[in-house]
Amino acid sequence: MISVDEALAHLFSLVAPLDTEEVPLQQASGRVMCTDAVARRDQPPFAASAMDGYAVASDAVRPGARFTVIGEAAAGHGFGGEVGKHQAVRIFTGAPVPAGTDRVVIQEDVIRDSDTITLGDALDDNAYVRPAGGDFRVGDRMQAPRILGPADIALLASMNIPAVTVRRKPRVALISTGDELVMPGDRPGPDQIIASNTFGLKAMLDGIGAEARILPIARDTRASLSAAFDLAVGSDLVITIGGASVGDHDLVGVVASELGMERAFYKVRMRPGKPLMAGRMGDAAMIGLPGNPVSAMVCGKVFVAPMIRAMLGLGTERAPRLTARLAHDLPQGGPREHYMRARLDDGVIAPDTRQDSSLLSVLAGANALMIRPVDDAPRKAGELIDYLPL
Ligand code: AMP
Ligand code: MG
Repeated sequence: MISVDEALAHLFSLVAPLDTEEVPLQQASGRVMCTDAVARRDQPPFAASAMDGYAVASDAVRPGARFTVIGEAAAGHGFGGEVGKHQAVRIFTGAPVPAGTDRVVIQEDVIRDSDTITLGDALDDNAYVRPAGGDFRVGDRMQAPRILGPADIALLASMNIPAVTVRRKPRVALISTGDELVMPGDRPGPDQIIASNTFGLKAMLDGIGAEARILPIARDTRASLSAAFDLAVGSDLVITIGGASVGDHDLVGVVASELGMERAFYKVRMRPGKPLMAGRMGDAAMIGLPGNPVSAMVCGKVFVAPMIRAMLGLGTERAPRLTARLAHDLPQGGPREHYMRARLDDGVIAPDTRQDSSLLSVLAGANALMIRPVDDAPRKAGELIDYLPL
């Protein structure tokens, strides 16, 4: 048996960052920008008013000072002229601060009488001027690689960058295998159950930037499996679920080898989800996940998601772990790394009492996978322990 990290290292050797494409900003949310974006302008491009009020020279500001209002500056319409020491310009938020002024006295601090303003007695120190380039300057960079979130997209727009270069989305084919499976909404026979793994995995992988397709269920025959693999051609990653242990009906490895996969078979020292198969098949990487629903989802999180991130050019790192305090004592752990379905509340984590790898209701009720390392010593309540957030 190999460790989780050894298995992951091998899986990373099967994939590489994909090619790139340009997308308009409206379609860039969640995509991985792969070349630095460079600001094409200063923001703001001019010293701008931060308030509605009167632009004046700060030298002349004192309680009771009087100014003659000689014009107006609004957002999008600056005041063209020069402002003298005892003059003021009516100004609004976002307007360029006129030449000769460097301070905006807010309208609440001013009494206006026709074209004359008189400043009040209690003036604050704030100039209410946003300096030119105070947000960013031309040439400032947003560094790649970066998963673009809403604030990034707003910043890119502000930099006057209408399109960005991103990694192509990894195309993933998901194949359920088993005579016992039917699709959700179909009518199962008396010995059948509903295929769930492909749906959970699609949701997981689409959520981190892949484009997953659920293929028709492959039956436990060579012909049906090889038909499914045919449909997967063109994918970057082919994922089969089930049929990958050593039972008589576990044909996935056999058929994949016949189709030219250089197969590595691993028993990974982990719970749940021991048997794992992986290799290259044509232009695609292929990974065979265990069929038990919780095993498949845990392996998705621990193995497949990092592969997707590698294909997106985000590096070859295992899934990021956090730590929390144990809610109660734990006995000696087992010989396999254990990903326990757990509840995390206010930084305190408690594994569920039911850890059978077929229980999707327990997984859905969990919000963390608490990780016990191989041969973990007994633990005390309050100790820190690693987990993967769900
Ligand atoms: P297998 O690895 O094919 O022996 O499957 C192990 C267990 O997982 C069996 O109980 C299967 O019925 C179940 N199983 C396999 N594939 C799926 C799937 N796509 N959705 C739900 N259960 C599955
Ligand atoms: Mg099966």
